[in-house]
Amino acid sequence: MKYTVLSLFPDIVDAFMQSSIMAKAIERGFVAYQAVNIRNFAFDKHKTCDDAPYGGGAGMLMLPEPLGCALESVGVRNRFETRRLSGKMGGTEAADSACPVDTRCPPKKKVIYLTPSGKSFTQALAKEFATEQEELVLLCGRYEGIDQRIIDAYVDEEVSVGDYVLSSGEVAALAVIDATYRLIERVISPLSLEEESFGNGLLEYPQWTRPEKYGTLTVPDILLSGHHENIRRFRLRKRVEKTLSFRPDLIRKGLEEHLFDAETCKIIDAIAETITDI
Ligand code: SAM
Repeated sequence: MKYTVLSLFPDIVDAFMQSSIMAKAIERGFVAYQAVNIRNFAFDKHKTCDDAPYGGGAGMLMLPEPLGCALESVGVRNRFETRRLSGKMGGTEAADSACPVDTRCPPKKKVIYLTPSGKSFTQALAKEFATEQEELVLLCGRYEGIDQRIIDAYVDEEVSVGDYVLSSGEVAALAVIDATYRLIERVISPLSLEEESFGNGLLEYPQWTRPEKYGTLTVPDILLSGHHENIRRFRLRKRVEKTLSFRPDLIRKGLEEHLFDAETCKIIDAIAETITDI
């Protein structure tokens, strides 16, 4: 997977990409990345990248020209451009803007604009990106966001990392990168992914490590018993309990979509009898 991040603060991205498992994934050739500084594409001597929004209102917006040039520099095409060229050859401007030509990136390269008003980024979407794409071009906003024409002309998907507002898109882009690269084959052991949160529609079970006694707190006996089947059952029950408690919406969805096996359904039924709120 290649990640191309367009940002006013590429250093934030560099710092992340050069550390820990990510650095190893790059070294081993599973991941490639480039961070592009949008400011390098500003037109004036002050390197201006923002201006006030038309119609008034608070804050500034990122200018379209530097963003467009930055996107073109990494091989992303303006989907209105072909029509505009044909317009110059005799078409009308009205027809040009009414009929965008589909010059989106080839199917395995996606341009994503990080925005709180985008579709929710979930583990399912992370998996989709990791398995179906070869390159993600991640566009980071700043200020009040970006000119709508950049979204119309270049962006394939608008993605939000949560129902809150960050001050810029870099942290959101890194969340998308972090959640997707670890799902790429051979980056981490498949065993580590097997019982993670959201796998099988459940959250992960709670875990303990050494020492056996921490102050007055101890480790559940069953985990010290060495009885693998009992440990497996204990963990499944804990997953269900935790999911029912923190994310009953996941249980509802799992039941609707028949994600759970008979054993899990039985545990849900048993616990649900004692709760009214699912
Ligand atoms: N005015 C925008 C709004 O109300 O939707 C918020 C702009 S925010 C201050 C600046 C930039 O941060 C956005 O352009 C976007 O790139 C990024 N951002 C903020 N929150 C985000 C979120 N939850 N998910 C993804 N990107 C986010």
